[in-house]
Amino acid sequence: MRLRVLGSAAGGGFPQWNCGCANCRGVRAGTVRAQPRTQESIAVSADGEAWFLLNASPEIRAQIEGFPPLHPRAPRHSPIAGLLITNGDLDHCLGLLSLRESQPLAIYATERVRRGFTEGNALYATLERFAGQASWRALRPGQALELTLSDGRPSGLAATPIAVPGQPPLHLRGRVEPSPEDNVGLEIRDRRTGAALVYLSGVAAPTPDVRRALERADCAFFDGTFWASDELIALGLGERRAEDMAHWPIGGPEGSLATLGRIGRGRRLFIHINNTNPILREDSPERAAVTAAGWEVAHDGLELEV
Ligand SMILES: [Zn+2]
Repeated sequence: MRLRVLGSAAGGGFPQWNCGCANCRGVRAGTVRAQPRTQESIAVSADGEAWFLLNASPEIRAQIEGFPPLHPRAPRHSPIAGLLITNGDLDHCLGLLSLRESQPLAIYATERVRRGFTEGNALYATLERFAGQASWRALRPGQALELTLSDGRPSGLAATPIAVPGQPPLHLRGRVEPSPEDNVGLEIRDRRTGAALVYLSGVAAPTPDVRRALERADCAFFDGTFWASDELIALGLGERRAEDMAHWPIGGPEGSLATLGRIGRGRRLFIHINNTNPILREDSPERAAVTAAGWEVAHDGLELEV
């Protein structure tokens, strides 16, 4: 399977429009060794022709334009056969509303995420302008689902959602009871080669399911939002710890890097990286620790064969 990182940053991107932290200032001024990043999304394909997007970021238009295999091949056409949404966070689903130009969309999400996005949302009517504009396909944790082309033929890829500790999106918090279907990871398997991509971009805490999925992975993308639990507090940018925002920090003795080690049999990459995270700086001690432990830091434009 072929894969392209369309975006690798957490919500807000890097730099973030209203952020003057050292990383954001430095990347704007060109005084730190770091690349700007758009908000997280990955494109995957079994054949290089039909593509599936893992999450729909607010920057989806530029991400599509920046990758020619996603460009139309007819006056009205898209090689994007479907979009898989892992949770209701706006950095993962706001892009759906940008795909409103009368193109049928196949959207894979848990029932919970579908309802969170569609119910009580006046803007969603833009994706219901004609019958069949948006077709939702239900993701159920633990159940493999064939990803299909627009004509219904199999794409060669199957997705198995993985239940992952998380939270309802910020805008629904306090309005809905938390559910295990608020947040999932994905195992995408190539039917022909058997290769498995594991994509866990939001992980609040380790679980046996998370560990098992990573052990099976030929390539794994993992929650790299924060290095430290108190990252935003220490920088005076917020009052919430990483865990309060449903993200397991990378660093420290209890962090994901020390806990997971060299798990799986292929490349391991951190993605969904917040602009405050020191691993964004290529010459930081935290980046060196990630590299020494056998992990990589995903960047926009990275292409892989799994
Ligand atoms: Zn910043």
